[in-house]
Amino acid sequence: MRVLSGNSSATSAVFFLLSLLVLVAPAIGAQRGNTPPADVPPLSMTCPMHPDIVESSPGNCPICKMKLEPVRLESIWTCPVHAVISESKPGACPICRRDLIQMTVALTWTCADRPDINQIDRGTCPDGKPMTAKRTLRPHGNHNPQHGGQFFMAPDNFHHLEGVYPRNRVFRLYLYDDYARPLGSDQVKRIKGHVVTNETFDSATRTTKEISAFPLVVASNGAYLEARVDTAALPAQMAAKLRFKDDAPEYRFDFTFSALSQQPVPASPTTTGSSVGKGTGAGRPVAKRPVQEEPRAAAVSAPAAPPQPNIPPTEVVASGVESSVATTSIPDTPAGIIVELKTRNEQIGELVQRGDFGAVWVPAFQAKDLAIALETHAKDLDVSQREAAAPSIARLVRTAWLLDAFGDLGNRQQIVDAYALFASAVSDVVTAFTPSK
Ligand SMILES: [Zn+2]
Ligand SMILES: [Zn+2]
Ligand SMILES: [Zn+2]
Repeated sequence: MRVLSGNSSATSAVFFLLSLLVLVAPAIGAQRGNTPPADVPPLSMTCPMHPDIVESSPGNCPICKMKLEPVRLESIWTCPVHAVISESKPGACPICRRDLIQMTVALTWTCADRPDINQIDRGTCPDGKPMTAKRTLRPHGNHNPQHGGQFFMAPDNFHHLEGVYPRNRVFRLYLYDDYARPLGSDQVKRIKGHVVTNETFDSATRTTKEISAFPLVVASNGAYLEARVDTAALPAQMAAKLRFKDDAPEYRFDFTFSALSQQPVPASPTTTGSSVGKGTGAGRPVAKRPVQEEPRAAAVSAPAAPPQPNIPPTEVVASGVESSVATTSIPDTPAGIIVELKTRNEQIGELVQRGDFGAVWVPAFQAKDLAIALETHAKDLDVSQREAAAPSIARLVRTAWLLDAFGDLGNRQQIVDAYALFASAVSDVVTAFTPSK
């Protein structure tokens, strides 16, 4: 049994949490729902410095306070190895038959002879020809496990990692950059870390003692780090503690393996379906929001990607824009919204309990939208109820955002703390909207 509460890293996590609570000021009731032409993804708002921040309404970046900028995001299916492949549907890579993975790309329009033109709305080029669509891979556009494990993002906003439990007593860690491309062996070798399966907290000295810790060592092929651990029973819980550079802070990632990880196998040529996401990390949607259900086939450029064949951009074909996987239908009545909020609260509680942190963002993102919708109903309340409702809703929006952000980072204590704040905000909102007798 691991004792986590109150240790020093938890304390710093709480400080981080509190500082975020001060910083985060979502624009409640801000302009929502841009209505684009039918074949164009809706506008999302993102930070120029923090592409992982994607909001549905204008505002400021919760991390650096920069004004959010509009971007059109859509998802495509590409090969984890052959970045040139870009399909509108799941399936197998035509080159190597691997299952395609879903990636988020930014959609802009440009002119063939004027590459400096790059705008978020379709237009006409100076020579009178219609602009052509251009798709650019986005950092953080892929948070999918590639080896059937649990995938997290480091707090440095650049590194990503995937913990895998391929067989009893073996923990393996794959490392990626901000585009979820595997780190080279020279970079993997610079990372120092260990895995902890058992630790205690001494409340007298306020120190955490690692009872069972195992060094992460570089695999002979340099492709991953690996540790021999003592845990045999499933579900297996373990924390990886890593430094990406000698002078960098140590980051903690909490993994829970309910089963041995299954490496996805390349699809056979006769297979038409996709097994993406069916590993032990199954259950999480395969792409960050917003996701279009019917993305267009596209040529994709990645600014820092390895050289790839130069494929001309394709014209967008008309297709209905489906709602994102993370959006939820909002009931018309406050009572209906409250029911949905309670459901999201339970869903998040179960995911946190299970250690499935990578899936937390979906109900958290939905809870945020529900809370914002509830705000418009607050004016119908009694004066006293209204005064109680406004700050509770604001807290609910902030803590839902925190859960969304912390779920990606995979630090159990951060997530547990944020969930406690979220659950208490839900409870206060429910009380505020419950008619007094
Ligand atoms: Zn920012
Ligand atoms: Zn391929
Ligand atoms: Zn990321």
